[in-house]
This record gives sequence, C-alpha cells and structure tokens, in this order.
Amino acid sequence: MARIIDAPLIASGDEGCALPSGQWGPASAAAARGLVYDAAVKAETDALCDKVKETIPAFEWPAYAPLIAGINRLKKEKNAVILAHNYMTADIFHCVGDFQGDSLQLAREAAAVDAEIIVQAGVHFMAETSKILAPDKTVLIPDLRAGCSLAASITGADVRLIKQRYPGVPVVTYVNTSAEVKAESDVTCTSSNAVQVVEWAAQEWGVDRVILIPDEFLARNVAAMTSVKIISWKGRCEVHERFTAEDIAELRAAHPGVIVLAHPECPPDVMAAADYAGSTAALANYVTKNAPKKVVLLTECSMSDNVSAAAPQTEFIRPCNLCPHMKTITLAGIYDALKLRQHEVTVPEDIRVRAKQAIDRMLTLPKTNAPLDFKTGLPAATVELVD
Ligand code: SF4
Repeated sequence: MARIIDAPLIASGDEGCALPSGQWGPASAAAARGLVYDAAVKAETDALCDKVKETIPAFEWPAYAPLIAGINRLKKEKNAVILAHNYMTADIFHCVGDFQGDSLQLAREAAAVDAEIIVQAGVHFMAETSKILAPDKTVLIPDLRAGCSLAASITGADVRLIKQRYPGVPVVTYVNTSAEVKAESDVTCTSSNAVQVVEWAAQEWGVDRVILIPDEFLARNVAAMTSVKIISWKGRCEVHERFTAEDIAELRAAHPGVIVLAHPECPPDVMAAADYAGSTAALANYVTKNAPKKVVLLTECSMSDNVSAAAPQTEFIRPCNLCPHMKTITLAGIYDALKLRQHEVTVPEDIRVRAKQAIDRMLTLPKTNAPLDFKTGLPAATVELVD
C-alpha cells in the first residue's frame, strides 16, 4: 500500500527542508516502495546531496535520498554496478552511478567490470553492448521503453541489403544500433573515434570508400574530415537533428562571448557554426580543461547539469533538447530493476559472437593519425545515401 510522505522527517534548515506535500515525483515513488527519509538515510546521503546541489535544491533532497540510499544498499547486497550514461539526470549520474561516461567509456567498463549484475542507466542498445561484452553477467535495463530513434532506423536485414549493393566495401556501424545490426557489420565506432575507424577500415580493406551507418549527420560530419568517400543511411538522432545554425546565431546575439559546443550527431551547418565539437566525453573534457566563462552544450539537456558539477566557474546557457528515451530511466525504475532483478537484456549467442567481433575490432584498433575531435567551420561534404 502506497504511503505518501507529506511532512518533514528531518528538521528543516541545514539538515534539509520539508517535502512538498502529496504525490510528487521521487517522494511518492519512494513512499510507494516503503522507503523513507530518516536519520540513517540522511547520514548515508549527505555527501551526495552536496555533489548535486546545483541541480537538486536542498529542500528537495529528502524526496530523492530514500531511493538513492535504497539503490546503493541493493547494489552492495546483490553485487551490482550501475553504468550511467552522460544523459542521465544528475540524481542517477552522480548519486547511484558507479561508472559514468559516453557509449565507448561505458562499453569498456562493461567489459572489465567485476560484478554479477550490470544495471544500464542508458538505453537498450547500450545494455545489449554490455551483454555482448560481458555475457556471464546479468544485464538489466530499468525501463523497457528506453529505445533510440537512431537505433530504430535500421535493421539487420537493411544492412544485408546494403552489403549486397556495395560488395567489398567495409561496414562501419555507429554503436547506437541494435546487436543484430552490429552483427552484420565489420567494425563499430562511436562519436569519439568515428573518423579514426573510417580511415582504418579504408586502409585495412584497401578501398577508397566506406559504409558508415546509420546516422546521416554523423556520416556527413565525418566526410568533412576525411578523403575517404562515405556511403550512409538516413538515420537521425531526434535530439540532435533539431538544433539549427539559426539557434547558434540567436545564442551568440543573446549571450556575447558564449562558447558553443556541439555533438557530431548535429546537422553539418550546426557543426560549422560551433566553436568545438566532439563526443559527450570530449565536450565534458573541453569544459573542465578550458573553463570557459559561458558555454552552451548543443546536446541532451542532462549534459549541462552533469558537467556543471565539475565546472563551478562556468556559466551554462541551457537551451537543450530532452531525449525521451533516456528520460524513461528513473531512480524508481533502477530500484525496481535491482530489487526484482527485472528487465534482463539478452542477446542470442550467434548474434552476440558476431557483434562482439565488430566491437572488439574497435576496442583494439591500432592508432592512426586521424583526429579524435571533430573540426568546426568546415564546408559541407557530400555522402551517398542509400535509399
Ligand atoms: S540522444 Fe539520440 S542517439 Fe541518444 S538515445 Fe536519444 S535518440 Fe538515441
């Protein structure tokens, strides 16, 4: 039976303030699971409260803390770890995540992690990647709705048809795809290493063109940086495709001196108008290393919240787009996944083995001279789109 917390369990002031009354987000979710904010929870979570104070005001902390403490206890009990993508909300990213990062960083952690259970605080293709790399572990996704518009744009059958049309041309597949699509591919890439992988594949196969799927904009942005000809697919990320060069012009006019950072899933004219571009890990590094006075991250909304904790000197201008798939992942969903061991992600063994080959090729890639960062200000390049 759900019990709603509608009164402070800890006195207000430095120790935390009253909870809003009635059914309210994490407060009602915690209460429904019999979790309350008491002295033990307060002691266990006070340091975390400080970590996220920029995004979760102190008076809201008693609503979040019971689920956070509950999850951190369950992780110990069940020998579990949580892999938290950069697009998770700050409560998940900073307070329950054991490893944080972009797809590539999380894939590497999944391969190396010493735990019985992996909870993927991210979307389904990421959980599949963890299962591919760590087949002996139980991989859980907190919400089965956590898909991806890019991953949904292409199937294994599509890749087989593309290969028939372009025999002998290597297939480089962005990690934001299903295991089935990876299994049909020669090598995977991420936005951290796409140029490097494309140049390596062209050299390895002895060809001057490469199939880079499924993100049309990533393909165009890679094509602008390499002499390798690119064949691609009309997949789009519904978060990044919405940014425009006009957005950047308006931002610069409204916030003189702002540094504009863009993710390479953005359209090429956005990349051309930005000051710096790269994977989510590269964007985070740029901010912490360069400490710009004012910055805008043209990517998913939670990135600014998560990076700002490590860059208190920087003002974050926050027009951003939410990823509805990433936002299905909540503290309550993570708690339930752990408690009930629910929503296990599996991959058929024949697909897993072939997909692993493509991922392993990427993870063990020899070094090339290709830059890992994306250049901005480049003229648009053409790619051949398969229809
Ligand atoms: S941000 Fe884009 S690429 Fe990432 S999960 Fe959401 S829709 Fe997919």
